[in-house]
Amino acid sequence: MVRRSVTRSIRCYHCGHRFGVSGKTESTQCPQCNQRVVVGDIVVKSLLPVKAVQTCGHIKVMRKGSVIAQDVHAGDGLEVQGSLEGNVVCGGNVTIGRYAKWRGDCAAKTVSIADGARIAGGRFRVPQSLEQSLPTPKSASDEASDESAEKPAEA
Ligand SMILES: [Zn+2]
Repeated sequence: MVRRSVTRSIRCYHCGHRFGVSGKTESTQCPQCNQRVVVGDIVVKSLLPVKAVQTCGHIKVMRKGSVIAQDVHAGDGLEVQGSLEGNVVCGGNVTIGRYAKWRGDCAAKTVSIADGARIAGGRFRVPQSLEQSLPTPKSASDEASDESAEKPAEA
């Protein structure tokens, strides 16, 4: 019997802090903002009316599943075969299946939409990296000081 604890690098969806967890971890606490961070995959099989569905892993909405949330964060990827309503931030691929119903914004690395999928509305930003979608960690805060006013372009 082999016991492995794969270290995985995740990014806190609350504050943007990046840290490592063991591969078996389902949820943890962010060392930076102390909030709970879900790491494991989420499978939605029925109606899920919540404020937020967030994980650093993968979210799958089954054909009979339905997500009605304000914020949806899927660090690794999102697959929708049922219906989804919410503002999605995804660090990987978003797959919208042929029977899927979608309403809401989507920021993802890539998106694939099957024939037959219904998109009722939303603003898609693709590709969008997690870095752009998540708050910047405080340590890396730099005021973009562009005092270099426009230099005359020299030919
Ligand atoms: Zn955090």
